[in-house]
Amino acid sequence: QAKAAGRGSLRFFSPEIMLRARERLSLEAEMRRALERGEFRVHYQPQLHLNERAVTGLEALVRWAHPERGLLGPGAFISMAEESGLIVPLGNWVLREVGRQMRAWTDEGAAPGYVAVNLCALQLGYGDLADSVRDVLETNRLAPGCLELEITESCLMADRGRAIDTLETLRGMGVRLSIDDFGTGYSSMSYLQHLRVHRLKIDMTFVRDLETNPGNASIVTAIIALGHSLDLEIVAEGVETPEQLAHLRRLGCDLVQGYLVGRPVPASRVLDLRFGPGHPLVGMLPA
Ligand code: C2E
Ligand code: MG
Ligand code: MG
Ligand code: MG
Repeated sequence: QAKAAGRGSLRFFSPEIMLRARERLSLEAEMRRALERGEFRVHYQPQLHLNERAVTGLEALVRWAHPERGLLGPGAFISMAEESGLIVPLGNWVLREVGRQMRAWTDEGAAPGYVAVNLCALQLGYGDLADSVRDVLETNRLAPGCLELEITESCLMADRGRAIDTLETLRGMGVRLSIDDFGTGYSSMSYLQHLRVHRLKIDMTFVRDLETNPGNASIVTAIIALGHSLDLEIVAEGVETPEQLAHLRRLGCDLVQGYLVGRPVPASRVLDLRFGPGHPLVGMLPA
């Protein structure tokens, strides 16, 4: 049997696979170097709170300012970073950078209410995430409530016990938690009873054709009802049109995020976003 498995595995050494393995290795090496050289950037996307009629916070989204390939989005490198484990140092860098930036905005008297940072399963499996977060908050003298952590349903499935313990610790510190891409993962939803999160983020695949696809409209309605019955706020992602905004508002969604409100921008352009009631979209919201 071992022999059969051995012979079978020879199939894996096809030229194509070898090439891909080599590309992977060089991307990994390049990412390591990029971390040392400071080639990663954080962009920030606004979230509009519909009842408060104001941009209340931002989501941090990592970018790679690649010297030859230009500015790369997470699609080009996050899955590799997760597979290689590089996501742990990269994720820590994002946390530290967001903390540093929040302190700078606070000193300028222009801090957003909170910044949401994306986490992946591997970061949660690591024992020291709560320590890293505490350290970032203390170093920058930040209130825990100005940090939100976005986790996906798959994070909670991967290493259940450990992930939930870590998140409980963070929640106990006063950090806010949200479930990202809600409704797209395999999950039992029972974790919502054990882990008290603050928000559910409706995945943009449900928002995209909300007005024309009755199935998606039903799913969005159900997520909002579920979330509200658990006392959670609902954020809709990927909102691009005024029609989607109006529809989501009618369904009782609490916050919207998407190109309609604002694209992700570098920190230097965040002050243009106008926090508080100054956002131009607020004029479109019925009183
Ligand atoms: P996500 O957390 O669900 O972030 C939302 C994604 O939707 C972002 O893509 C954002 O740029 C994009 N988006 C926002 N509004 C719109 C819209 O109106 N239309 C469309 N078509 N897209 C919109 P991005 O920046 O490419 O990030 C992709 C994913 O990469 C994120 O999905 C998140 O899962 C992951 N990611 C980003 N930054 C980090 C990070 O620092 N750490 C980890 N672990 N993952 C990250
Ligand atoms: Mg997110
Ligand atoms: Mg999402
Ligand atoms: Mg996502």
